[in-house]
Amino acid sequence: MLNMDTRNELCKYARKIVDSGLVVGPGGNISARAGDKMYLSPSGFALEEIEPEQWIEVDIATGEVTDVGLRPSSEVLMHLFGYRQKPDMGAMVHTHPSNCIAFTLVERQLPIMFPDQAALVGRTAYIPYLIPTTDLLAEAVAAKVNEASSILLGNHGLVTTGRNLREAFYRTQVVEESAKIYLSAKAAGTPIPLTNEEVAAIAALESEDYRIQLLQKMK
Ligand SMILES: [Zn+2]
Repeated sequence: MLNMDTRNELCKYARKIVDSGLVVGPGGNISARAGDKMYLSPSGFALEEIEPEQWIEVDIATGEVTDVGLRPSSEVLMHLFGYRQKPDMGAMVHTHPSNCIAFTLVERQLPIMFPDQAALVGRTAYIPYLIPTTDLLAEAVAAKVNEASSILLGNHGLVTTGRNLREAFYRTQVVEESAKIYLSAKAAGTPIPLTNEEVAAIAALESEDYRIQLLQKMK
């Protein structure tokens, strides 16, 4: 099955991720689900270099890779375990954003600081450093995907999930911006995040234009 729409969408967001400076060089890997398959970046490519036909098709249930002469990303298990664990997950974006990595060198829990972060991302989970590409990292991420749509990986980077690539990509941008804001606020003084009540009030704004507009951008 070719699933060209999914492949083209992956190329589009791969380019946006690179253009936004969320990875450098061949770092990072992204995937999207189509039916019972996932499509994942191949190993050894910079994200923006991947052609539509080069995304690797992997059967989510069996892990079987359709042979096109390329190896899947070394984080294949992280993506695979994520889709198995979370049936409504349509995409996973793993990047190495500089402010997120810097944040994990000094802190663990990213507070919720501003309305877009509360509405689009919510709580961010944290996993201490684990060696990349291992079953351990894949299992640790899979254990958190139903708890939070963004997961900071200590001394490593960020994983976001979403119903689609657009949502996962926006979340990556917002978490990276949040980490940047936190670090600059902390350099200037003591950051004061939103209270739990303030976050809950934003989550409850179902009928407000603000939240509806944000959510429409995510579709
Ligand atoms: Zn990584």
